[in-house]
Amino acid sequence: PAPSADEVLARAEEERVEFVSLQFTDIMGIVKNVVIPVEVFPHVIEEGQWFDGSSIEGFARIAESDMYLMPDLSTFAVIPWERGTGTTARVICWVYNPNGDLFPGDPRVVLLRQLERAAKLGFVYNTGPELEFFLFRRENGRIAPLPHDQGSYFDLTTDLAASVRKDMIRALEAFGIKVEAGHHEVAVGQHEIDFEYADALTTADNAITFKYTLKAVAQQHDLHATFMPKPIQGINGSGMHTHQSLAWLESGANAFVDTSDPYGLSELAKRFIAGQLYHARGMCAVLAPLVNSYKRLVPGYEAPVYISWARQNRSALIRVPAVRAGRLQATRIELRCPDPSANPYLAYAVMLAAGLDGIERELPLPEPIEENVYHFTEEDLRRRNVGVLPSTLGEAIAELERDEVVREALGEHVFERLVEAQKRDWDAFRQYVTPWELDRYLEIY
Ligand code: GLU
Ligand code: MG
Ligand code: MG
Repeated sequence: PAPSADEVLARAEEERVEFVSLQFTDIMGIVKNVVIPVEVFPHVIEEGQWFDGSSIEGFARIAESDMYLMPDLSTFAVIPWERGTGTTARVICWVYNPNGDLFPGDPRVVLLRQLERAAKLGFVYNTGPELEFFLFRRENGRIAPLPHDQGSYFDLTTDLAASVRKDMIRALEAFGIKVEAGHHEVAVGQHEIDFEYADALTTADNAITFKYTLKAVAQQHDLHATFMPKPIQGINGSGMHTHQSLAWLESGANAFVDTSDPYGLSELAKRFIAGQLYHARGMCAVLAPLVNSYKRLVPGYEAPVYISWARQNRSALIRVPAVRAGRLQATRIELRCPDPSANPYLAYAVMLAAGLDGIERELPLPEPIEENVYHFTEEDLRRRNVGVLPSTLGEAIAELERDEVVREALGEHVFERLVEAQKRDWDAFRQYVTPWELDRYLEIY
């Protein structure tokens, strides 16, 4: 339950908060904020804070620009690295239109609508993201594509990165995010920190907070943390695999469990997987939103390429992680195509909509594929009826335009503005003459 205004104001006083950062995200998931002195906070809790929506990516056009923010008091937290002089707290806000309706272009509202839809069917949607990232050094004021360590997966390194990671974990915990583990990832300079799963609105808030917290902590060490999906060619990129399950609203019990099934999955879970496989191509532009995202979704780097599901196999799009005997509450499915550049609110909204579509239309689940699909030939793919994810942002946009369910989950406003922003990027990239082309063609032709 959200704390009352009085409780939050008392906490602000106790913690000697001087400023409050009112936060929300644009459609690309970039955090926006306006800072108010704490004396104004009671008024903003009552009346909201007005701002110009036309200056926010994907929000409004000039003519319809007035909007206001209403703090979601359950998200009030002191920013750990802004304590002391000028102690600042953040609170994530809902965006409203002047007529008092929630603004349909606010990504958090888009997710809320899908969660409400799930609640009507009797479900809570839980997610647990695994955000991967790279740490880079700053050299002469520029971010050098030079990983500063030589470690690999789970390596026990004693270098700077290990202590930076501990600082990151401390900062996340101070924000109230319960960290489960942090470790070195497969690539040099690559890391992962996992936090506890929760309902999708909470984890989307946490994922946003996570990204700027890690950037802030890295900066304190003169490093740069990046969530760019594929910063370095030839080694693993960074994913945001997301573990998901539905729980029954009434009892809280996991609705994905069925002990009599060889995979431990209920009928409901299977339909949900089927829905996500069915809409995988249509969701891709939301889950992997950048031109660069598609450099990650290639064979050989533990990122998915083909539309299949499996129990263990890390080349599958959806994996069903092993669960310890007697711990069936932990049953879940892991979708592996999202990357950390995705807007988590929009990502979870479309993932849920796709899963629910599978449930509502009782879509059949294809056979699992336990072999490494990276080694499949075209013939294997055809014979086993395995689809392929879009290979470029351009293709992903076209698929999104065709997918009614995903479009509807985003709502017309966000759909149109997202596609507009993505087409802008895709067109710019398409017209760019890359160094690769010059190396390859300039002399020969
Ligand atoms: N970095 C890989 C990716 O791009 C995932 C590695 C892992 O399985 O954790 O998705
Ligand atoms: Mg990982
Ligand atoms: Mg994973």
